[in-house]
Order: sequence, then structure tokens, then C-alpha cells
Amino acid sequence: MGINRRRVVTINDGKPGERSVSMACMHCTDAPCAAVCPVSCFYTTADGVVLHSKDLCIGLRICFYACPVRARRSTRRLETSGRAAR
Ligand code: SF4
Repeated sequence: MGINRRRVVTINDGKPGERSVSMACMHCTDAPCAAVCPVSCFYTTADGVVLHSKDLCIGLRICFYACPVRARRSTRRLETSGRAAR
């Protein structure tokens, strides 16, 4: 099993009419993921792109639950230092 960088939603899985949709970040205005982050690792560029700083992130993953389309994905495994995956 590899890293899933995007969430794929499958409708009518295994049935006639099955469809899959790849869900991506919508770059929300007043991004909920940013609002819940205690270390402010999200920032918005001047042209409205919501970005995430891997250097600031402490791996709580509460942004996963705040995102209305569940676009947040983790690309990291648990680190040997004991820090949570992010
Ligand atoms: S990760 Fe989710 S909550 Fe954050 S900007 Fe993207 S769509 Fe919005």
C-alpha cells in the first residue's frame, strides 16, 4: 500500500453506474483547517492558495477533521523520534 496523496470517493462501488471522484483541496476562504491548527502551520498566499508548512506541523491531524471535503492527507509515517505522523 503506497501513499495516498488524494482521497478518492467511489459511488456505487462494485455496482452498475460506479463512479470515482478525486477530492482535492478547495483552498477555502477562512480555511477551517487553518482555524483549528494550534501552531498556525497553514498560510494563504496572495493569490488565495492555502499551503501547509511541514516544518511547523506537529502532527495532531485535527485539520483532517476540520476539512469539509476531507482533502487533508498525510504523506508521512511515524517518525523514530516519537513525533506523530503528519
Ligand atoms: S484542506 Fe480542506 S479546509 Fe483546508 S483549505 Fe483545503 S478544502 Fe479547505
